[in-house]
Amino acid sequence: MSIRVEKDFEIRKLTTFKIGGKIGLVYFPKNSHELIEILEKNHRIPVFGNLSDTLISTDGYDGEIVLTSEMDEIEIAENRVKALCGVKGPKLSQEVQKKGLSGLEFMIGFPGSIGGEVFMNAGANGQCVADNLVNALCYNPKIGLKTYTKDELEFEYRTSVCAKLGLTVIEAEFELEEKDPDRIKFQMDENLKFRKNHQPSLALPNCGSIFKNPIGDSAGRLLESIGAKSLTVGGAHVWRNHSNFIINSGNATSFDVLTLMNELQFRVKDTYNIILEPELKFLGNKNKKENELWQKLNQK
Ligand SMILES: Cc1cc2nc3c(=O)[nH]c(=O)nc-3n(C[C@H](O)[C@H](O)[C@H](O)COP(=O)(O)OP(=O)(O)OC[C@H]3O[C@@H](n4cnc5c(N)ncnc54)[C@H](O)[C@@H]3O)c2cc1C
Repeated sequence: MSIRVEKDFEIRKLTTFKIGGKIGLVYFPKNSHELIEILEKNHRIPVFGNLSDTLISTDGYDGEIVLTSEMDEIEIAENRVKALCGVKGPKLSQEVQKKGLSGLEFMIGFPGSIGGEVFMNAGANGQCVADNLVNALCYNPKIGLKTYTKDELEFEYRTSVCAKLGLTVIEAEFELEEKDPDRIKFQMDENLKFRKNHQPSLALPNCGSIFKNPIGDSAGRLLESIGAKSLTVGGAHVWRNHSNFIINSGNATSFDVLTLMNELQFRVKDTYNIILEPELKFLGNKNKKENELWQKLNQK
């Protein structure tokens, strides 16, 4: 069977931000073998999951990428669960809940893939990936396939060693706690209720938190205090209920979002001498001005 490949692929609709132009070539592997085959041919190819943490340039991307969205197998044995990188967090948390396994309740509320969530140690409602992960099978461009233990993945707040080593997560294994399924479901419902009041739904296209929280503070609080809620650039505006979210009101471009992020970062630096670090990722290589804005945002 050959790997699904799409040329000049319009990616906008697959992103939660509903922003992004054409991608030169997109691979859609269906299983680990296909993903490894792609990675062995192109060690540095960017790999994405559900594009819920990535801003893609409106001008698109001249090159190849992988989307893991068709790799969605889950294997549950007693209190251990293995998930391929493309499995969506909400699906995994529902599947383990049915088996009376607790530890992934936080995944119900946001649209990441397991690969993306391991990559950035995603978390919410007091839980995060690092809490229950046992190991992850990864492709390392220098040494090939290797199973990394939790310690070797060096999880920290919204990061892991994956970015530093250029690791692609292929599969992750979690060890969970046996509990009454109704209690687990109750916690998942509570998480969803909390989210409804504090975060925009996907009916308002967005990419989750824009900036990471600085140590000992909250990006939302800092942004609110510098008047972020009144800021708009083109079709991109700061969400009125929480300043660490940018909403695409329909026709926002990536340039609008990057310009708005730069303005927000500048105001916080100017007032508090704190440099907010972007939480979202950016993919684009065709627009020089955007690349400059992205570089500026990532200056330490
Ligand atoms: C409404 C909304 C709410 C959100 N709430 C939260 C929240 O509460 N907590 C939270 O942590 N995040 C939240 N997010 C952000 C996002 O869902 C998470 O960061 C998630 O982990 C991203 O997964 P993804 O598959 O969509 O990543 P993508 O956007 O596809 O990729 C993001 C990064 O992960 C890398 N990556 C993806 N797959 C792999 C892989 N297999 N191997 C190696 N690297 C990979 C990509 O290269 C990229 O650098 C929210 C997003 C939205 C839209």
